Amino acid sequence: MEKIQMVDLKSQYDRIKDKIDDAIQEVINETAFINGPQVKEFSDALAAYTGAKYVITCGNGTDALQIAMMGLGFQPGQEVIVPAFTYVATAEVIALLGLKPVFIDVDPDTYGMDVAQLKSKLTSNTVGIVPVHLYGQCSNMEAILEFAKTHNLKIIEDTAQAIGAKYTFSDGRKMQAGTMGDVGTTSFFPSKNLGCYGDGGAMFTNDAALAEKLRMIANHGQKKKYHHHIVGVNSRLDTLQAAILNVKLQYLDRYTASRNEVADRYDNAFLGHEYVKKPVRVPNSTHAFHQYTVQIEGDRRDDLKAYLAEKGVPSMVYYPIPLHLQEAYQDAGFKRGQFPVSESLCEKVLSLPIHTEMKAEEQEYIIETVKGYFK
Ligand SMILES: *Cc1c(COP(=O)(O)O)cnc(C)c1O
Repeated sequence: MEKIQMVDLKSQYDRIKDKIDDAIQEVINETAFINGPQVKEFSDALAAYTGAKYVITCGNGTDALQIAMMGLGFQPGQEVIVPAFTYVATAEVIALLGLKPVFIDVDPDTYGMDVAQLKSKLTSNTVGIVPVHLYGQCSNMEAILEFAKTHNLKIIEDTAQAIGAKYTFSDGRKMQAGTMGDVGTTSFFPSKNLGCYGDGGAMFTNDAALAEKLRMIANHGQKKKYHHHIVGVNSRLDTLQAAILNVKLQYLDRYTASRNEVADRYDNAFLGHEYVKKPVRVPNSTHAFHQYTVQIEGDRRDDLKAYLAEKGVPSMVYYPIPLHLQEAYQDAGFKRGQFPVSESLCEKVLSLPIHTEMKAEEQEYIIETVKGYFK
């Protein structure tokens, strides 16, 4: 058996090598490295795929969050509610823009923000909420959208881990992750579900005026070359990356299905296990399974992780420290105990290898090794 990997981008490439190589060669032949025709082609294709009216591509998923907040007109000092248990990018751009991140704890089973706490986070300065569809499953969007509407708040959905996940509202309407809020943001970081071969990102919106503003901000605040209407940034998806994404988008449904097959096999294997708690799936969202993240009971997570590494099974802790306890956010005077669920998850979560190229025998070995540790 070959070395087991968290993600296997090389095998994934090998299967579509001819198409990818042709796409890259075409860009080089045309030398339209910035804003080549492939960029528009890809944003149109992604709009058709997600059902978003407008897709604005940019340099990475972090920029997408920042541009979204700039586009929505958030002003320094205003407050944005964000989960304490997520990747740092979400809170980082809030702080960077001089806004105040207001952390909210998450649900211990689904990892999405705990909507029951939203009310207690609201002040006269609150302008937005950033739900993060962590590991690939949608947050409780119905409740979040309802709350935002009542209190006139904007929603930016961080969809970096959940592209393609579908959410079903109680009236039966279905919408894709990233297309429900005012703006959805995503990342094409190589290991993401729709990954390119470098950095890339995009924003989704259904609002024409906002789409235009986001596009301007991403392009130095200009509509016409050298006419700068607002202060912007330089954040672009390279033509090469767009060409690669044009090929890979055609495989995204297949990739998501492969991830779900792997997740189903793990679920069966860990059903009812005393120490390995499998991820809880909510009935109203499909799961893109960016990560297959279990919770290890009995204070044994780190020891299990070391044991797995010894046996050739990689695993990762996403994330080891909640945002309110990160050094960078200590100025606000956060303390341990303020977000108990996030703190406890940081000690229990373990993500097992899941990717589009996982072989059944590899997975059998991973499962046996995890189970073997507890025997
Ligand atoms: C990856 C990720 C981002 C940032 O994306 P980059 O393209 O790396 O900037 C933001 N939020 C979440 C939840 C992510 O997983």
